[in-house]
Amino acid sequence: MKTFCGRANPTTGAMEWLEEDENYDYHQEIARSRYADMLHDKDRVSIRAAVSRVKERGEKAIVLDIGTGTGLLSMMAASAGADFCYAVEVFKPMANAAVKIVEKNGFRDKIKVINKHSTEVTVGPDGDMQCRANILVTELFDTELIGEGALPTYEHAHKYLVQEGCEAVPHRATVYVQLVESKRMWSWNKLFPVHVEAEDGEKIIVSPSEMEDCPGVPSVCDIQLNQMPSSDFAILSDVVTMFSVDFSKPVRSASTSYRVQLEPVKSGKAQIVLSWWDIDMDPSGMINCTMAPYWVKSTSAFQWRDHWMQCVYFLPNEEPVLQGEKVYLTACRDEYSVWYKLQKARGEEENKAAVRVESPVCRCQAHLLWNRPRFGQLNDQNRTRQYIKSLTKVLKTDSVCLCISDGSLLPVLAHYLGAKQVQCFLMLLSFFLKFFKANNLEDKIKIIEARPELLTSSHLEDKKISVLVGEPFFTTSLLPWHNLYFWYARTAVASHLTSNVTVLPQSASLHMMIVEFQ
Ligand code: SAH
Repeated sequence: MKTFCGRANPTTGAMEWLEEDENYDYHQEIARSRYADMLHDKDRVSIRAAVSRVKERGEKAIVLDIGTGTGLLSMMAASAGADFCYAVEVFKPMANAAVKIVEKNGFRDKIKVINKHSTEVTVGPDGDMQCRANILVTELFDTELIGEGALPTYEHAHKYLVQEGCEAVPHRATVYVQLVESKRMWSWNKLFPVHVEAEDGEKIIVSPSEMEDCPGVPSVCDIQLNQMPSSDFAILSDVVTMFSVDFSKPVRSASTSYRVQLEPVKSGKAQIVLSWWDIDMDPSGMINCTMAPYWVKSTSAFQWRDHWMQCVYFLPNEEPVLQGEKVYLTACRDEYSVWYKLQKARGEEENKAAVRVESPVCRCQAHLLWNRPRFGQLNDQNRTRQYIKSLTKVLKTDSVCLCISDGSLLPVLAHYLGAKQVQCFLMLLSFFLKFFKANNLEDKIKIIEARPELLTSSHLEDKKISVLVGEPFFTTSLLPWHNLYFWYARTAVASHLTSNVTVLPQSASLHMMIVEFQ
């Protein structure tokens, strides 16, 4: 069986269907290197210790390795003296590879690769596993810890696949948080007012009221906090433990919440919760692996990882906090994601009342149109100033302006800077109708509901375009040079341009260099 997968063509921006094998791993579309990590040195030591502990009890060491990938952790366990390993891998091409790797390394008698999701695995004389395991080995975490489904997987494994009191490697994970104020990070989730110095005075572009208290989208914002200069945020609280998961005991995946009391170390606007986790590979906590950023643990800045970073959570609203005046921070989670809410510590009664925090679902639509880097771009005042400067140079009172860019504010700038007629192609029409309404621009900017190659002169009321602008930015662009789509689009509308048209940006150059990068 084959399946069709939708993919944006980077040249034309159009959605196209590609035929993929039934085993196509959809995660490949967003894959980051995950099958290799320094952590494996710690895995090796911890697995060896777990096998020894089981053997010291006089038991056979039966390992369950969920999400075996290449089979590496099972082979480590077998080398450490495990009697038998069940290596479960849901992704068929990977499971096939594991079978070959296990065989080639001479572990065929010790390791059974099971190509199933762990929740489908059966135990018993005729089952996939002869008996329950007493060592549980996994590596199922993402930057948010639980985003790859670790909790339901562990919950099921404890119920059906492992013995009570089993050894787990890793043994425990702990999630830490720190409250900060950061205009830069806040600018990734909200649109700040944009100031435009026009000939007839200052104009301010504002966002529709729905955007004010929209919590945004639930997908995790994972970044390399180690690359964030300390001048970009102000620390408002100490680092506190938000919650822990002990993987050697039954795990509950059902939605729940955790609450901690914080005493701000500084007054400011609480906007952002920074978060990361660490894992204790063994019960004693001697072998620890942490994602703590540089200001918490200076050595962690040197451990480069691109698959586990740190999380940035946006509070639903910014809350002023005072130094020393206690506040409550609540973390809510479902099976796959975490979100936060901050409350002032008032009366006991009020605080006892369970906090019902809804998961962040974008109500204003802007967060569906603009991702976080895009919000950051639109809020970059320096960038806006450059556009205003350039537009002021090229626009005349009789300019007929067409804008080709997704979710751009350029049409609004062009209108305020005096273009006679402004047209644009826009995605998510319903949001832009609200946005234009909030700025009283409904009848000032014409939205063309067609792709550039389908532009007709009737869309332009038989006028020719004298100024063609773009940022260029397109939501279909996965890599920076995909934005060269502007080049394609500019060619597609060529017959509608005046002979002396001004095109902004006028040119682009792509730079590259060869490096050695182990
Ligand atoms: N254990 C390997 C690979 C880790 S990547 C290593 O440490 O190098 C995680 C792997 O787990 C992926 O291959 C994914 O397909 C698989 N996986 C995730 N959840 C699973 C589950 N519940 N059952 C089976 N496989 C799972």
